[in-house]
Amino acid sequence: MDKRMRARKLNAVLKEMYPGVFSTLDFENPLQLLVATQLAAQSTDVQVNIVTRELFKKYKTARDYAEADLAVLEQDVHSTGFYHNKAKNLKQCGIRLVCEHNGEVPGTMEELLELPGVGRKTANVVLGAVFHVPGIIVDTHAGRLSRRMGLTGHEDPGDVEQDLMRLLPKRDWTDFSHRLVFHGRAICSARKPRCDICRAWPYCAYGQKNASDTGFTP
Ligand code: SF4
Repeated sequence: MDKRMRARKLNAVLKEMYPGVFSTLDFENPLQLLVATQLAAQSTDVQVNIVTRELFKKYKTARDYAEADLAVLEQDVHSTGFYHNKAKNLKQCGIRLVCEHNGEVPGTMEELLELPGVGRKTANVVLGAVFHVPGIIVDTHAGRLSRRMGLTGHEDPGDVEQDLMRLLPKRDWTDFSHRLVFHGRAICSARKPRCDICRAWPYCAYGQKNASDTGFTP
């Protein structure tokens, strides 16, 4: 079976396993999602949700971030890690939103990438959830699972994104990314993938090799 066919089969199996997918970050508007996604770098969604519960009560608009006292903002996001950079980026991002976008989160990849602290992963999260523009979101789970499944040989997230875009129908890009994250948490963990109970096994490069090496039958 060629790689494109395997990718489509994996897409179908994961769709059956995780029919309802969503971002596990808590948010109520585009600005909150933009902020939460930036804070999630090198952190966990659980930790970010704890922090944003208070943060979003205090900072409600882009102007609130733009006018924030940097030292205070650093303390407010401290427990998500890399707080110097995250606070600096949030403040600069707030300034750009106020000055160039009337305080609103823009809806194109080009505009989002011009915001401080926003890379393709964050931009694709926002575009997918808020503007319904499909995009492949490559976080650590998605990158790891894509390599295990034999859908890419690349480590660089941008290269992984390009490979998955070539293999999958555009309408499924965002949901497939979320499903990889769900599957990574539920069955295909970094340390101990449960190939023996995994329905994606017939189409997964690692699962196939694992089966022929160990002789397990799912
Ligand atoms: S077969 Fe194994 S490596 Fe492949 S997705 Fe399933 S658990 Fe992960």
